[in-house]
Amino acid sequence: MKGLLGRLFRRKAPDGLSTPPLIALAGVSRAFDDGAIVALESVDLAVHAGECVAILGPSGSGKSSIVNLLSGIDRPTGGRVLWNGRWIKSRRAWARLRRREIGIVFQEFNLLPTLTARENVEIALMGRGIAVAERRDLAAAALVRVGLGHRVKHLPYALSGGERQRVAIARAIVNAPRLLLADEPTGNLDSANADIVADLLFNLQRDGGMTLVLVTHDDDLAERCQRCVRMRDGKIVDNGHARGRLRLVEGPPMPSEPAMAAIDQATPDVADIVPPSATAAPLTEIAPPIAEATAAIARVAAAFREPAE
Ligand code: ADP
Ligand code: MG
Repeated sequence: MKGLLGRLFRRKAPDGLSTPPLIALAGVSRAFDDGAIVALESVDLAVHAGECVAILGPSGSGKSSIVNLLSGIDRPTGGRVLWNGRWIKSRRAWARLRRREIGIVFQEFNLLPTLTARENVEIALMGRGIAVAERRDLAAAALVRVGLGHRVKHLPYALSGGERQRVAIARAIVNAPRLLLADEPTGNLDSANADIVADLLFNLQRDGGMTLVLVTHDDDLAERCQRCVRMRDGKIVDNGHARGRLRLVEGPPMPSEPAMAAIDQATPDVADIVPPSATAAPLTEIAPPIAEATAAIARVAAAFREPAE
């Protein structure tokens, strides 16, 4: 394992410095059904801060498994997942990373149908000790960033597919994450909306200085990333290489950065403040692999009714 970590860390960051990768898989395997199904086998992947990496591969090759491990939604059956060079082991540590450092966008938009666009975004800010008014402002600002400033009070059913995915992106970026993971984010969209969502993701990555890992079937989309990692049968068959600068597209203007510094760093976990009885009704439209990702959201949703303004 030591040699493996050494190999990962010897890779230079894009700026030429020998900093540890923002996130890395070191000899990671994921098996299911007592080893009968091997989703990933001895995968090494290092993603440095600021990189824009595409993960390409046929269906079943292990792309979503990688996203689930990079976000701590799932755990490896072998190997380690490292954040900034630190092996992340506990559920609590992963939950904290997802709340503060990692945003995730899925193919399915996973919005709660009874909450407005702004409330759906606000959910990602819960459990952080942020005052209600500030939470609303931050959520509204995130919606402005994705071009939906005029849709804050709409329920998901009243939004188009592309707009719903933009709400999901706003929810993923409202905490100003350092790592944005997107698993086939355009997979459920028509080509016009897919273009809008893709442009938005690349612009957010550029403007926010985020690290983007984008899973896609689409070669054209992957070509727009600095690096393409190709997977087959649970293995990385091509680790990709830097392609120079991103191809950039003009996007909506950026509002000023929200006052994230004011956020209390010492707030308890959502699990600590939401009573176990506050479970939401099952979200039948959410696919099983997604359920865990949104479990925290579902858990707090029932408690998320506040007095009207
Ligand atoms: P991709 O996203 O590239 O389509 P996945 O990572 O979803 O691939 O799946 C990789 C392999 O692991 C597939 O063979 C899939 O059937 C299997 N797999 C994924 N999740 C599970 C699970 N929860 N239980 C059993 N097998 C699974
Ligand atoms: Mg997948």
